[in-house]
Amino acid sequence: PITQSVVKRTQAAVGGTLTAARLALRHGLACNTAGGSHHAGPMGGAGFCVFNDVGVAGRALINSGEVGQVLVVDLDVHQGDGTAFIFEHEPRVFTFSMHGEKNFPVRRGPSDLDIDLPDGTGDAAYVARLKAVLPDLLRRVAPDLVFYIAGVDPHESDRLGRLSLSDAGLAERDAYVLETCLAVAPVVGVIGGGYDHDIDRLARRHATLHRAAAQAWRRGLARREA
Ligand SMILES: [Zn+2]
Repeated sequence: PITQSVVKRTQAAVGGTLTAARLALRHGLACNTAGGSHHAGPMGGAGFCVFNDVGVAGRALINSGEVGQVLVVDLDVHQGDGTAFIFEHEPRVFTFSMHGEKNFPVRRGPSDLDIDLPDGTGDAAYVARLKAVLPDLLRRVAPDLVFYIAGVDPHESDRLGRLSLSDAGLAERDAYVLETCLAVAPVVGVIGGGYDHDIDRLARRHATLHRAAAQAWRRGLARREA
């Protein structure tokens, strides 16, 4: 049910991603502690998502001329169908989604690049697949800004996941994505999905992104404006 608290949370998440995107443009790197509602599409909400924050922020920055080219790196375990539909006819936003092949949504969105992974992929194969595609993609798209949807639902304990990544695997993934993307463009990180009955454990898992971002920041990997 859409209660007042859900409405407030939804608006704050969208505003947070837009703010984080602008902070990333200014400082090189910024993360929201929410966001990544990638199943919401142009026609409405879906799959626990009300508004597509990356869709709104990406559209706002393109329309205002703040960026000319955007790359969405969506590593939530589910395909980013809503984002793909929103930017289907927008060549200035490239949508990349790597996800579980046997997972929601049944009807896939028109991403610019999809990679389907089998159940039980595990850390080594997952990271190897990412390393095989991301550097070339960054060269090809040459983005002014990268949205990174760092869903933690590929985790082995996730209720909806099935890709069997460990804590260390998620940490390695986030560190690799940030390091590789930051060499090319500013990065805005959003949390995406994660499903665990233990909320503290889930919050710690989502904070993998923020720990990796803090480390990248300390290493001086973010490009700051002069
Ligand atoms: Zn998900």
